[in-house]
Amino acid sequence: MNDSAGPRGYRRPGPIRMLLDFVFPHYCKVCGHRLDPSENELCITCFLNMPRLEYRRDMINPTEKMLLTEKSLVRAASLMQYSKESDYRNILFHLKYWHHPKVGSWLARIAATELKEKGFFEGIDCIVPLPLSLRKEIRRGYNQCTFIAKGIRQVTGLPIISSVVKREAEHSKQAGLGKYQRWKNAQDLFKVTDPSLLAGKHVLIIDDVITTGATLCSLIDVMEESIPDLRVSVFTLAIAE
Ligand SMILES: [Zn+2]
Repeated sequence: MNDSAGPRGYRRPGPIRMLLDFVFPHYCKVCGHRLDPSENELCITCFLNMPRLEYRRDMINPTEKMLLTEKSLVRAASLMQYSKESDYRNILFHLKYWHHPKVGSWLARIAATELKEKGFFEGIDCIVPLPLSLRKEIRRGYNQCTFIAKGIRQVTGLPIISSVVKREAEHSKQAGLGKYQRWKNAQDLFKVTDPSLLAGKHVLIIDDVITTGATLCSLIDVMEESIPDLRVSVFTLAIAE
């Protein structure tokens, strides 16, 4: 038995890690308590109590329910489901606003390792992170979905293609609109710059959190419209209750 093994993502730290942790302490991205050097991004208590969602290929999960109207959808999954009051929401704040995007890669690696065992990535050709508008990406300094995509890539070896889909604007009042109005708005929101690159492919779209599904549906609508024989699967870190 490997004595350094712990729950997924947790390993006994080496001396360099111990020293680094002493100089630059880390804090749990959920509860804010200082992390032990053996802990990674989340304390062990928050990790074990995470409101995880089980992925099963023979059952429709809440993420798939939100995207059911998309005809090219093959499957979808999210790592966890949180409510507005939950401290687990802090993970999304760290990821998007507090400049800790690596928590996204770390959680994505954990999710991907488990999803891979369940055949979630079967037949998928490439990963497309949901794009931010150029203005927003420059302001933030990164696209958090790219960090999640990198975590998935480390486990699956799937290539990331982020140059094909562009986000033109950030207006996203798509919730509650009918399919046609959403489609019309989506024409302004996303653009596919080189449809031939994804023609006939099964694409895994990555988003950080799915709330109503409206933004993801808009992107899928635009991709379906311009890319022939497209199949789409979706992974998000979280789904909001
Ligand atoms: Zn914690």
